[in-house]
Amino acid sequence: FTFDEFLTHWASERADRVALREEDRVYTYAELDEATARVASALFAAGLQKGDRIAWIGKNSDLYFILFYGAARAGIVMAPIGWRLSPTEWAFIVNDTQAKMVFAGPGFDTLADQLAGKLDHAPTIVGAAEARAMIDGATRTAFAPSGTDDAVLQLYTSGTTGNPKGAVLSNRNLFALRKHSSDLDMPYTKWDDDEAVLVAMPCAHIGGTGLGIMALAAGLPGIILAEFNPDGVFDAVEQHGVTRFFMVPAALQFLLMHPRCASVDYSRLKYILYGAAPIPLELLRQCIQMFGAQFIQAYGMTETTGTISMLPPEDHDPAGNARMRSAGKPLPGVEIRILGPDGEEVPVGDVGEVVTRSSNNMLGYWNLPDATAKTVSADGWIRTGDAGYLDEDGYLFIHDRMKDMIISGGENIYPAEVESAIFGHPSVQEVAVFGIPDDKWGESVKAVCVAKPGMTVDEADIIAWARERIAPFKCPRSVDVIDALPRNASGKILRKDLRAPYWAGFERMVN
Ligand code: ATP
Ligand code: MG
Repeated sequence: FTFDEFLTHWASERADRVALREEDRVYTYAELDEATARVASALFAAGLQKGDRIAWIGKNSDLYFILFYGAARAGIVMAPIGWRLSPTEWAFIVNDTQAKMVFAGPGFDTLADQLAGKLDHAPTIVGAAEARAMIDGATRTAFAPSGTDDAVLQLYTSGTTGNPKGAVLSNRNLFALRKHSSDLDMPYTKWDDDEAVLVAMPCAHIGGTGLGIMALAAGLPGIILAEFNPDGVFDAVEQHGVTRFFMVPAALQFLLMHPRCASVDYSRLKYILYGAAPIPLELLRQCIQMFGAQFIQAYGMTETTGTISMLPPEDHDPAGNARMRSAGKPLPGVEIRILGPDGEEVPVGDVGEVVTRSSNNMLGYWNLPDATAKTVSADGWIRTGDAGYLDEDGYLFIHDRMKDMIISGGENIYPAEVESAIFGHPSVQEVAVFGIPDDKWGESVKAVCVAKPGMTVDEADIIAWARERIAPFKCPRSVDVIDALPRNASGKILRKDLRAPYWAGFERMVN
């Protein structure tokens, strides 16, 4: 499958059905086909060639999807850049891509000034109004469509553990999930004709762009939210018939905390997909109680074009089902193994590094041959950097990132488990756990908490709460209270930033 095939197909099968909607702007599949073909024609007319990069700096927008799909049809590679990053970080990524054109999203009119003096090449910077005019004024000309294994999207990793890296993804990668889904005989992999998908997470991540692609592959409407906000999500569910969305745990918590949450009509909502970071069990329970929908956990990474394993609705039984802690089973066509420190496969139930192989795996990192060689083996296995195990039924359990593992007195402790235990405490709004240097134990467990509005977090109380729930050696030895946790644009907790001040002058074992 390729973008060109899907766009052509739905333009003839579902010409008048809604393809994209942002607020009052609606594109039918016929209109989307025309607009994206014009984008391809205009980019070629501007002198770009197959394999060239273009970049997008802006919020989610119908314009972004039209530019991306149009470029993808022609094998020009789109690199969306997180708008929440700083101009210096934008410039780092623009330079990394060597983009020939940089598109500014609506509201980013000063982009050229913000990038001035920071770029090492001279891309054409195109404003949103200018881009729309370019599309409207273009003439559709014949072009050679991109092939299945041509690069079409360059997504940067979230930068949770270091600098973001550009994962180069092909048509095959981006539509692999569609193939898997249609192979599966489960209700949530089938689409009804009246469904709609919400794009609520940032398009610079697979959880944003990927949901748009999901709608395109199914020939259904993609409803676009410029940026995540609870009211926007609630309105989309009540007014635009959204039946599925994907959200990171931090976003789900924002929905729950919103005063409107309990009174929204969720009757059309079928599936809530969540993932991208470990979810505290108590948060998941609260969500299951609140939204009538069925829950699906997705586990994956940018390098695997998102989801490689899924925990289906039937394993979300809030009545203490141990499987609720699992990241589910590998999708058909996806291989997952657990490797020990010497690269050997470990027995079932043993913890090691999760590695995976499938047609979801990226072509490679852009311009980083050493990082690619470290991450992807010669026979195509990607090292996820995540610690986990497989149980006897083939369910994958993700403990945490290898880099965040705390080694205290010779025991391995995974922060996500400790955070999940503390999260349910009535005074705690948010919590992060990490290791700090310790003379006696090597590392000791530290927790930082953000208090719920109007509440105080008491150190001894938190430690006692944790002791009732997890083994003593996993419990924090100290608890600090802070105003907010450092998170990146994907809503992930930046444990490396929390850890850094404590480790000045020390060397960490796990790195
Ligand atoms: P960087 O690679 O730049 O440090 P990142 O790893 O956060 O950033 P992403 O590709 O956005 O960038 O995230 C992939 C990671 O997110 C996975 O390796 C895993 O650690 C985490 N993750 C994804 N899904 C889940 C899940 N369902 N449960 C727990 N962790 C998850
Ligand atoms: Mg990563």
